[in-house]
Amino acid sequence: MEIRSIRGMNDILPEDSILWKHVRDTMHRVLARYGFREILIPVLEETRLFQRGIGETTDIVEKEMYTFEDRSGQSLTLRPEATASIVRAYVQHHLYTSGKVEKFYFWGPMFRYERPQKGRYRQFYQIDVEAFGSNDPSLDTDVIASLYDFLAALRVPGVTIEINSLGCPKCRPGYHQALKAYFSDKQVKLCPDCKSRLVRNPLRILDCKVETCHALAMNAPNIHEFLCDTCKTHFRGVRGYLEDLRIPTRLNPMMVRGLDYYVQTTFEAVSENLGAQNAVAGGGRYDGLVRQLGGPDIPGIGYAMGMERLVMILKEAGEEPMEWPCDLFIATLGKDARRFGITLAAKIRKTGKVCEFSYEPKSLKALMKLANRLNARFTAIIGEDEMREQKIVLRNMETREQVTLPMDDSLPEMIVVSLDNADDSRSTQRPPFPSSFPEKSSR
Ligand code: ATP
Ligand code: MG
Repeated sequence: MEIRSIRGMNDILPEDSILWKHVRDTMHRVLARYGFREILIPVLEETRLFQRGIGETTDIVEKEMYTFEDRSGQSLTLRPEATASIVRAYVQHHLYTSGKVEKFYFWGPMFRYERPQKGRYRQFYQIDVEAFGSNDPSLDTDVIASLYDFLAALRVPGVTIEINSLGCPKCRPGYHQALKAYFSDKQVKLCPDCKSRLVRNPLRILDCKVETCHALAMNAPNIHEFLCDTCKTHFRGVRGYLEDLRIPTRLNPMMVRGLDYYVQTTFEAVSENLGAQNAVAGGGRYDGLVRQLGGPDIPGIGYAMGMERLVMILKEAGEEPMEWPCDLFIATLGKDARRFGITLAAKIRKTGKVCEFSYEPKSLKALMKLANRLNARFTAIIGEDEMREQKIVLRNMETREQVTLPMDDSLPEMIVVSLDNADDSRSTQRPPFPSSFPEKSSR
């Protein structure tokens, strides 16, 4: 019987993974400019890390975690997000003693037991960015700017950065009270989830996607009328810097984010092209989290981006799909040619070019078909005649031009020169997607 993958867990095949690779390459390039350094964390953690780190009243901890006991009876959980793990690593390795703001990024699969649908899976991939060691609005700004630059570098269309402040433990209780007062006489109209949120975490009602709750939330008290002076000044600082950087943001007082640990700045990148699951990235400040997980009182801020949703937007915006490159296909006919060809392939690869080989004996016609299937820019044809005459035929697969090159020591170099000087459409790396997101040059 055929065994299939688990529901909500996808294979990313090479025709898609080339785009994923492009996103990751861009991630490494853009985030490095800000001084973010890559950190790698385990897939499994002790369950209590997430219970304590994400919060007991969140959707993730309440109903989405993959939790099980290992052979020794210890409760483990497949990571549903990266922040808690990165904070754990920061505390465990005393990285706060470095005397600088520590900035990390991470990329990997996350696991949540959710109802699978478009843009929502049980194994999904996140890019995660975290910074520790300052509460200054300049750090909030740099973190948000890195998200904006990343999306701009990918030329993601139709994205808006929404921003909000959730206050702090000093001013939020007052807002909680105001929300409770506002919603308490409207309780009957709230969805069952929001009825319990009203008691446990009234802020989360503002985030509810149920239509009736959403309608009620529209007229709820506004958090900005409850922020203390510290939070007000902080938020004004962040918005001012973002304006200086010409990063377009939209204030959304209803954006509360699903996690318990956020304070002050929260933000989301939303796309008009995604439908119901419209958030491509989300994050915020979590100044109490390091201490809550056993470290010193050190502030932090970060965001997580969903790879699947990002790739979905890029694909919908793309003119043509990206393809894995193949500079040269070595097509051989006969035993002697194969022997010569496999050595030639090795030499071409040493120059950095991508080279494919004709592993299976085929006719010339079949080899040309294979060259196109391999997406080869050029094909080196080496048959029995060529072996006899000590030359090869190099064919440009797009223009169909052919040149004959002598089989001497300079052959690999001659091939590389021909490849580099050709003017077929793939000779220069064309950007794969149209530009509709604000260009970086406008900054
Ligand atoms: P949502 O409100 O859509 O459930 P969330 O608030 O749970 O999102 P976060 O925990 O902030 O999401 O994760 C950040 C990003 O990770 C999201 O913006 C989204 O792009 C992606 N993401 C979250 N859950 C999933 C999932 N189950 N499948 C695919 N991507 C996801
Ligand atoms: Mg969610």
